[in-house]
Amino acid sequence: MKKSVIACDLDDVLFDFAKPLINYSNQVLGQNIKYKDVFSYNLDEVFDCSYDKSVKIVQDFCATDTFLNLPLFPDSKNALNYLSEKYEIIFITARHGLAEELTKLQIEKNLTGLNGYSQNIFFTRQYQNKEPKIPKSEVCKNENARLIIEDNFENSQDCSSKGIPAIIFRRPWNEKYLKQKHKDIYPVKTWKQALELVEKIINF
Ligand SMILES: [Mg+2]
Repeated sequence: MKKSVIACDLDDVLFDFAKPLINYSNQVLGQNIKYKDVFSYNLDEVFDCSYDKSVKIVQDFCATDTFLNLPLFPDSKNALNYLSEKYEIIFITARHGLAEELTKLQIEKNLTGLNGYSQNIFFTRQYQNKEPKIPKSEVCKNENARLIIEDNFENSQDCSSKGIPAIIFRRPWNEKYLKQKHKDIYPVKTWKQALELVEKIINF
């Protein structure tokens, strides 16, 4: 029997991305922003700079060794290992096109031994001015994903409104949306909670 497909975001779901990014942007901009103060996905608002500048900071950060060596969240590798026994995992990331090669390296470096992960990465390029943008729901539909694991509320809403339930990790930038309940959007704090929900959703 063909395995059900699960879509999984990379940054701030698997990889601890925001904290090192904030350290980097603080150095570049001479600021002292704390992780808990990252109230929005729109980094120009968080950094209080132009949109172009915020895009450049992210792009420059993605060219550093720090980015290549981003740490995984506790339990995320074990959780993926567990999931990959039963399900087919695809990764969907909004990372820009320039980071594609590095991303493949990163996945190989961190997740070696898990089934063919590096071939299953989709780049939606949502934060790029000039690159074509693809909604994550479109990738999920094309790949027949049963659910998505995310940290971005807009992506979660986009997917859930198209019939793809979203498990969303609580982060400072999505808390304001998660104060109320949303249909087919399931907030979690840990990978343990996420795994329990995956089973519930798939077997519903
Ligand atoms: Mg993310």
